[in-house]
Amino acid sequence: MSNLPPASPEHPEAFVHPVAVPRLTHWSNTIPSQWARYGLIVVLLATSFFAVWSSVTTGRLGQEAIASSVLSDHYTAAATAVAAAESLERLYRLEPGPQVLRRFNEAVQDLTRALGHIQRTGSPADHLLAQNVLTALTPFLDSVNKLFKAVDDGNDAEARRIDIDEGDPLFEKIEKVVLQAAADHHKESIVALEKLRTREAFNADSTPIVFIAGLLLAGLFAQVLRRTRVELDSQRKDALHASLHDKLTGLANRTLLADRFEQALRLGRRQGSTTGLLLIDLDRFKEVNDTLGHHYGDRLLDEIGRRLISEAREIDTVCRLGGDEFAILLPSVEGLEGALKAAQRLHKAITASFEIDGVELDVEASFGVVVSGVHGDDPSMLMQRADIAMYAAKKQGKGILAYDPGADRRSPERLAMLGELRRGLERGELFLEYQPKVSLSTGEVTGVEALVRWQHPVRGLVNPDEFIPFAELTGIIGSLTQYVLNLALSQVRAWADIGICIPVAVNISARNLLDDKLVVQIVDLLEQHNLKPNMLMLEVTESAIMLDSYAARTILRQLHAMGIHIAIDDFGVGYTSLAQLKDLPISELKIDKSFVLAMQSDQANELIVRSVVDLGHNLGMTVIAEGVETAGVLDALGDYHCDMAQGFHVCRPVSAKAFVQWYEERERK
Ligand code: C2E
Ligand code: CA
Ligand code: CA
Repeated sequence: MSNLPPASPEHPEAFVHPVAVPRLTHWSNTIPSQWARYGLIVVLLATSFFAVWSSVTTGRLGQEAIASSVLSDHYTAAATAVAAAESLERLYRLEPGPQVLRRFNEAVQDLTRALGHIQRTGSPADHLLAQNVLTALTPFLDSVNKLFKAVDDGNDAEARRIDIDEGDPLFEKIEKVVLQAAADHHKESIVALEKLRTREAFNADSTPIVFIAGLLLAGLFAQVLRRTRVELDSQRKDALHASLHDKLTGLANRTLLADRFEQALRLGRRQGSTTGLLLIDLDRFKEVNDTLGHHYGDRLLDEIGRRLISEAREIDTVCRLGGDEFAILLPSVEGLEGALKAAQRLHKAITASFEIDGVELDVEASFGVVVSGVHGDDPSMLMQRADIAMYAAKKQGKGILAYDPGADRRSPERLAMLGELRRGLERGELFLEYQPKVSLSTGEVTGVEALVRWQHPVRGLVNPDEFIPFAELTGIIGSLTQYVLNLALSQVRAWADIGICIPVAVNISARNLLDDKLVVQIVDLLEQHNLKPNMLMLEVTESAIMLDSYAARTILRQLHAMGIHIAIDDFGVGYTSLAQLKDLPISELKIDKSFVLAMQSDQANELIVRSVVDLGHNLGMTVIAEGVETAGVLDALGDYHCDMAQGFHVCRPVSAKAFVQWYEERERK
């Protein structure tokens, strides 16, 4: 068993909805804002990285340049000391004396100090070089000492020999190495300095560019972020508006009405004022939609909305409930009289002609009127009663009707029953019995009629006559029909699966024929139960067709075109004209049981039955008699060439299981 549709706009008894605001985030907005946020982070990271990188690299180059220049200075000092030592050695040979000797020793000390510095600050190669020079220095100093001694002894020839043979080659080696290294390091230090200068120039040029570009990008991303935030804000506002308003007309929707209704009633209780509610349903609106197209229908609804707004007071809420249903909330109204006056004004406004794209259109409308205090105090009860009043206005062809509690003295009890019925549907308390239809000529079972019953937890078994008429007063009949169709079709499916292939007839109420969704629901159910349309028959009463004959005809034609059979139920008690009958897509006439039951006791009834059989046949329809309680009636119907019979004499309405037993027993005979 499928679940019933949840409490929804069609069901006024489930009227109060919380005002829910959808959260709307559209990807086209979240994406840019996301990449703008990431962009901003990347730009900040990149500029910071650049700043750190340039300062680190510049620092490193600076250190290198300093180290290189210090080392170069030590080499220069070494080179100077070497040159000094050489010239002092020569000077000693010309002018020997302690002063020159002291200066020579100082030069040698300078050289060793410089070499020591080089060993400490230079690279391993420098270290090695200094070590080699220091090693070479010892034999050189030995030869110089020998030379100075020869000079002191006045042995010039020996001094020259030592100088030429020992000192000069040793000294030249030292001089060559030190001078060359000093020159190299000088060059290196210049190169390092040059590198540092280039880097600094680069930094000087690029830093402002990088920071300006970063600033621009950050600004751009911030702008994108700001704009998406603004867009999201406006989207949120739009979504809020959309959730509370009708898309087509821009009027308040059911949710907003429920909210304002609560507020108005609360305020009314505090201030002692009356709140009114008008429920409006257009008559024959479907005709406009079908004959002129949806464009006209939509425009008409929009225009009607405008007129209602212009006639309503500023504090009233004009609402479109869906389809061609409107509601107007009248806070602080002058009692029922005030609400009726408002209804008259608004009725007059919308029944005056409309001109849409050069086409003149007239609409009729039925108004149901309720006011707080007199008709109830909570929104769902008032809404339900407005709906009952509106439906009564429609049924009676009155434009405006206030809810009339006197018309039904047991009304509160019945209203309570409607609430229970909704719960009963939800809890699956309703079930079906099936009554067979048999062929009078062959005795064959041609179908079953599904008849609903309600196993009420307190009241016990409730017959359809006790609740269907009230269900018909409100939208709940839509749910009930859907429920019955679903049960009946799933039963047909189950029977077909065990080899009993017979169609089911389901009773359809007048109000179902005003509901655009009926056709779609039936299509869906047939598909769901994998059944052909000819496995379903719909029984419709004459009065149902007459309520809004245009709408009913349209829906019946659609169903007929799909292959679903239509029967006219209770034929003979209504007022269908022959002309209308001829135009309807009917395949079966069902003679009302009142004629059949009294057929043999009353000649007039017998005549009616015979005439209906002939009429049906002449119109190409099958004729069935219901309420066949005796064999005599059954035989007589056969004599009149009536096609089928249904009634207690054949079989009472029974459970699905009992029907199978009855069926199989009959097959055996
Ligand atoms: P209806 O469509 O005219 O259904 C036939 C009614 O006559 C059924 O009453 C059935 O039990 C009864 N009946 C059958 N054979 C005989 C007979 O030989 N003698 C007599 N005196 N009565 C017989 P039920 O089941 O109480 O249904 C009453 C009405 O309730 C139905 O009249 C139909 O209009 C309505 N109804 C039943 N089920 C549904 C449903 O699912 N949806 C809707 N909308 N209406 C339903
Ligand atoms: Ca019926
Ligand atoms: Ca009937």
